[in-house]
Amino acid sequence: MEKKYCLECEEILRGRTDKKFCGDSCRSAFHNRMKNAKNPMMRLIDSRLKKNRQILDYFLNNVADDNGRVSLTAIRRVGFAFDYFTHKEDDSAIYYCYDLGYLIDPEQKIIEIKQTSIDTGVDLFL
Ligand SMILES: [Zn+2]
Repeated sequence: MEKKYCLECEEILRGRTDKKFCGDSCRSAFHNRMKNAKNPMMRLIDSRLKKNRQILDYFLNNVADDNGRVSLTAIRRVGFAFDYFTHKEDDSAIYYCYDLGYLIDPEQKIIEIKQTSIDTGVDLFL
């Protein structure tokens, strides 16, 4: 009979032939490792999205006027990556980075930032 080895520690497996791990600790160690092993492109995209959200959050809470309006130049200057957003509503110019939505005015001078929540939904700009 062919020997099988634990996918985590490579110990020889005994008992049931469909076993993949020698025990629960190896099973969870293996799955945790797989979960954390994102590919480099995913890591890059994730970090840009998170940075974008940080920038929006900072501007919304420290720079913006009462309507969440900020100069587009200012937000561009700190490295906001406009190509990276989490989602966009159909037929709308509102882009989202997670819970923070933004809208760029037609003259490309002002960006309006709003925070959405589960309670308020996504109709903040209407
Ligand atoms: Zn093991």
